[in-house]
Amino acid sequence: MEEGGGSELKAMDAEQLREQGHMMVDFIADYYKTIENFPVLSQVQPGYLGKLLPDSAPTHPESLQHVLNDVQEKILPGVTHWQSPNYFAYFPSNSSIAGFLGEMLSAGLSIVGFSWISSPAATELETIVLDWLAKALLLPHDFFSTGQGGGVIQGTASEAVLVVLVAARDKILRTVGRSALPKLVTYASDQTHSSLQKACQIAGLNPELCRLLKTDSSTNFALSPDVLSEAISNDIASGLTPFFLCATVGTTSSTAVDPLPALAKVTKPNNIWLHVDAAYAGSACICPEYRHFIDGVEEADSFNMNAHKWFLTNFDCSVLWVKDRSALIQSLSTNPEFLKNKASQENTVIDYKDWQIPLGRRFRSLKLWMVMRLYGLEGLRTHIRSHIALAVYFEELVVQDTRFKVVAPRTFSLVCFRLLPPQNSEDNGNKLNHDLLDAVNSTGDVFITHTVLSGEYILRLAVGAPLTEVRHVHAAWQILQEKATALLESL
Ligand code: PLP
Repeated sequence: MEEGGGSELKAMDAEQLREQGHMMVDFIADYYKTIENFPVLSQVQPGYLGKLLPDSAPTHPESLQHVLNDVQEKILPGVTHWQSPNYFAYFPSNSSIAGFLGEMLSAGLSIVGFSWISSPAATELETIVLDWLAKALLLPHDFFSTGQGGGVIQGTASEAVLVVLVAARDKILRTVGRSALPKLVTYASDQTHSSLQKACQIAGLNPELCRLLKTDSSTNFALSPDVLSEAISNDIASGLTPFFLCATVGTTSSTAVDPLPALAKVTKPNNIWLHVDAAYAGSACICPEYRHFIDGVEEADSFNMNAHKWFLTNFDCSVLWVKDRSALIQSLSTNPEFLKNKASQENTVIDYKDWQIPLGRRFRSLKLWMVMRLYGLEGLRTHIRSHIALAVYFEELVVQDTRFKVVAPRTFSLVCFRLLPPQNSEDNGNKLNHDLLDAVNSTGDVFITHTVLSGEYILRLAVGAPLTEVRHVHAAWQILQEKATALLESL
């Protein structure tokens, strides 16, 4: 017996899937139709859901309609709507029709493509699509699968940096001996994403030797090659072994761009693995006018961007290319009896299980393939350009209001700004901007986030949700202005 009515749901049945799948697609389409009606930042309190749901699973089946009613009434209030056109927080995490359809197809086929034989199309499509994307980004041929390198889809940029860090670690240890592990030094700027630190922790590196070199406004928060060079010299003089630099194109706080060509001039002679984290900004580099931001990538050992951020590909899809795939494989491969097969043993195929942390892997290339085919590179370029144009518009609005200041150059679709404290104010503006952020986000009509640059609390507005139009940017600015006026009057 079921509690909610309707015929019993089988584990799989083509006609039931068709019927219930249509219901679900209708539900999701209606969600997108009404997405602006929800508070973009969920306004629930911690623990809200436990009060609304029973404390054990149903004994008997319920109907999909019952579940969807609960989604509408109980789940959606606790959702922060990343796809809302009023979402300007963190960085975007794009959803698109093509990406959604690709996800759906991947769920439909539900294969686990750890080695070529476990689903040849999954491996081969991934290789082809990553070569397509490498070509669109004008990556050097060393990163293509046709050479010694190749691309692989990871879940996140955090996994990407971890796998290359481990590959670089083992590569250097093969030369200098395993006992040198406690002496290995990793470099990055203090603007580098925290995923690098996490990767160092997991990789068993000495946490004291993860050097986050200081940046400031004199380089627009980019890593200075001189600072890097000095740090490396000091470390070598102290008997340490420099081995890894994580450079960022488009830092999380302010989209700073580390100067790849100049940094490579420092890493190359010192035999240091250069990883480029372009998690957010990499997508923009398919546009000829933004490609120069990754000039110098030809000197890098690995390059990563999150297609799930700004490339219309639903989460998760983080694309990583390496020049020397054998370094990855040497660190990450295992060869248990139960996975042995002719193709793998003849070494004629890629087994992506040896390029990543888990064994199992989803058919993620389907959604990237769908995105690239259904939008084409020109459609993707239009998507990027439209967001950058909206960010330019927002920046102009901020500049026109003398109470505010743009605090870092806008390079892509992120604007960093702050409300200036009144003269004679004891507050350096940090509390004021903190309060402004709270006031703005508690409206539920807009969601932006913050960072701290050189000790100053800064507001960040990142354009990137596919539904965002100029009216949404304008409305966000109006809310910011209104709340700023109220706050300044209350001082
Ligand atoms: N690197 C940069 C520059 C980022 O902005 C982010 C996240 O925003 C990351 C890495 C981490 O991304 P992920 O969540 O895919 O690990």
